[in-house]
Parts: sequence; C-alpha cells; structure tokens
Amino acid sequence: MKPTETTSGLPSSADVVVVGGGFAGAAVACFLCRKGLTDVLVLEAESQFGQHASGLNAAMARQVTADPLTNEILSRSLSLLTAAGDDWPDTVDLRPGGSLLLTAKGRGDGLLSAARTAAEKGLDCRVLDREGAMAMVPVLDPRAFDRAVYTASDGVVDIHGLLWRFLKTARKGGARLVTSCRMTGVESRDGRVTAVTTDRGRVTCRVLVNAAGAWGNRLAALVGLDPLAMTPYRRHLVTTPPLEVTDPGWPFVWDTTHDFYFRPEVGGLLLTPGDESPMEPGDTPRDPAVLEILADKLARYCPELSGIPVARYWAGLRTITRDSRFAVGWDGRMEGLFWVAGLGGHGMTASSAVGEFSADRILGNPVNESWKKGLAPNRLC
Ligand SMILES: Cc1cc2nc3c(=O)[nH]c(=O)nc-3n(C[C@H](O)[C@H](O)[C@H](O)COP(=O)(O)OP(=O)(O)OC[C@H]3O[C@@H](n4cnc5c(N)ncnc54)[C@H](O)[C@@H]3O)c2cc1C
Repeated sequence: MKPTETTSGLPSSADVVVVGGGFAGAAVACFLCRKGLTDVLVLEAESQFGQHASGLNAAMARQVTADPLTNEILSRSLSLLTAAGDDWPDTVDLRPGGSLLLTAKGRGDGLLSAARTAAEKGLDCRVLDREGAMAMVPVLDPRAFDRAVYTASDGVVDIHGLLWRFLKTARKGGARLVTSCRMTGVESRDGRVTAVTTDRGRVTCRVLVNAAGAWGNRLAALVGLDPLAMTPYRRHLVTTPPLEVTDPGWPFVWDTTHDFYFRPEVGGLLLTPGDESPMEPGDTPRDPAVLEILADKLARYCPELSGIPVARYWAGLRTITRDSRFAVGWDGRMEGLFWVAGLGGHGMTASSAVGEFSADRILGNPVNESWKKGLAPNRLC
C-alpha cells in the first residue's frame, strides 16, 4: 500500500477530485493529465465507467445546432477527436457518413442561419433543397420538410473507444480511477471546498469537479447549494433488425421540426421518437408507449419507413439547462467547485473540447472569453 492510500484503496488526498466517470469526468481528467496536472482522482459510483448517459447515447457527432457558440465547441471537439498526438496514439473510430438536418418552412431559421455562420468559419456544411436531400436519402417524404442542412464531416463515433481513450490517457498520465465509490458529502472551510466524503472514506482536495451528469444538482445539494436551472429528461432509442429499405451509406437524418431521427445501424436503423420527459436521476425505466409515438411520426412524416419492426429499445437521461447551453466553469458561490454539467444531447460530441476547456480553466490558463461567459454556471442560479 502506498503511504497516502487508505485501506479502502482510496488515496487520502488528491489535488483534483472528479465526481462522475462518464464523458464529462473522463474528458476533464484526461486533459488535466495531458496538460501536466496529474494528482487527479476520478470517482464513479457504478461498478463500471460510462454506464449512464455516456453508454446509452446515439453516438452521433453533429456540429450544427441553432446556437453558434455550441457549434464552435462541437467543431473544436471533432477536430480534437480526429487528431492523433504523442500521448494519444489511437484515433477514435468516426464513421463520417455526414448528417442531414431537416427543417420546415418558417421553423428552421435559427438553424439555417447558424449553418451559414459555421460554413463561413470553414465547416463543410451546406443548405440543400428537397431534391438534394432526397438524392441522399430517397425514403424522405418531400411534404415533411422544406430544406436540409448537410454536414459532411458529421458522423457516428465508437463511443466506448472514445470514453476509454480519455480514461486510458488519464491513467497513463497519473490519474487514479476508482469505480464503486459514491461521493456522499463535502467538507468546506471559509467558503472553500477542503475534502469529499465517500462511502469508502474521505479524500482531502483543492478542487472538486462536479461531472455527475443527471446527478449534478444532487451534488450541489450535498455542498449546500441551490440547484442550477437544469433538468434530466428521458429519451428512448430504438433499433431494428436488418432492413431491405436502408442503405448503410446514408447520413444520419434529424427531422428538427417533428423531432425524430434515424441513422443506419448494422444493416437496419437506430431511431428516436424524440421523447422528452423530466425524470429523477437513476436507472431509467422504459415506456413502451414511445413505440407508438415513433410509429405515428414515421407514418406521418416518413411513410416509407412505416411499420418497420423493433429489435430492441432503451432509455437514458439528457440533462438540459434552461438555455440549452452547457454549464462549464467555477461555481462562484463555493470556491474550488467546478461544474461540467448540462451537456444535454451533445455531451459525447462536445466532450473533447469541454475537457480541454475545463482543464485550462482549472489550471488558470487563458481561454476563449466568449466560451467562459456563455458557459458560466452562475447564469443558471
Ligand atoms: C438517448 C440519448 C441519446 C443521446 N445521443 C447523443 C448523441 O447522439 N450525440 C451526443 O453527442 N450526445 C448524445 N447524448 C448526450 C450524451 O450522452 C450526454 O450528454 C453525455 O453522456 C453526458 O455525460 P456525463 O458524463 O455528463 O453524464 P453521465 O454519463 O450520466 O455520467 C455521470 C456519472 O456520474 C456518476 N455519479 C453520479 N453521482 C455520483 C456520486 N455521488 N459519486 C460518484 N459518481 C457519481 C454516475 O454514476 C454517472 O456514471 C445522448 C443522450 C441520451 C440519453
């Protein structure tokens, strides 16, 4: 046993304690270690990393939303994801099939304008008319949309490969990664975090990173703080068996007006009915009623896919802030508390840039000022 280790296997101290072993926590630990701060401890309550939203998502990397600031973060993230480095030898598998975001007349102005801004900044996206979109995905119904944003470098990511790239890089850099360990409390002195308590012992620390996903506000309550304005919402994903009608070369298709998406998945499709119900954090029960919602949307807006069989379905939680932007930064009410939360439906894609930005902020390095302001957690107090 190392002198600083307790009998529980936990160190008695760490400079930075990261709570949560999903994309948020893993990415922050990874970039802290890459940038030279290696006294990092990651605590994950479950017996494995990435068991909640980070292991249950649709794996789609999308770089255009209606918010230009979010788009900058997503594009930076994708360039980090596809870049190799000396300590970062493996490239993560990204199947760059592209994406097609459908909009209806008068409903997608924000998205179309954000797409034009992104294109001016060099992103390979362009606006297509109905014919252009249907040439790519012939099953689309031209009555359901007016225009589409096509982004060639969007695609589908190997999510387990990405999570483990972060975790392996962190471990190689010196971070300690602990599973089956739940943070249960926080100690503070003079308004500053001094230690965390867990179900396996106590660890003193200088910085506490709240990367607890849907549990983020539960952690805030442990610190004695009011919640941030963000809510976990349940969303279901559905897969089909192999289908004659699908083409593995299709981009992923997101109907932003009627709120559903589908993409090729091992010869069939992965789809969502676009459901969004607020839920308490925890294991997420499935609701079979969503299959009817999906069947109804396909019948109305993409009838060529109507009646497709279901192989499997599951649900996870997307934690969405009041203004849909991420909450990444120092708390401001409690010194030493750093939030990496509210990653909504883009947390897998954004994780590399969010990890890099968080590490720079924790280290006191210069950062992009508009990201710092736009992501400040205190806007949600
Ligand atoms: C159905 C669905 C589809 C999605 N599709 C996409 C997509 O296509 N593209 C995309 O980019 N994003 C997608 N997302 C969003 C993405 O998955 C999330 O934004 C991201 O995984 C959030 O990561 P996280 O680390 O913040 O949260 P989580 O993965 O939930 O990790 C938080 C971790 O904290 C742990 N924890 C909580 N409390 C404690 C405690 N007290 N002590 C120790 N550990 C604790 C939890 O056990 C959990 O493992 C989707 C999400 C869902 C649900």
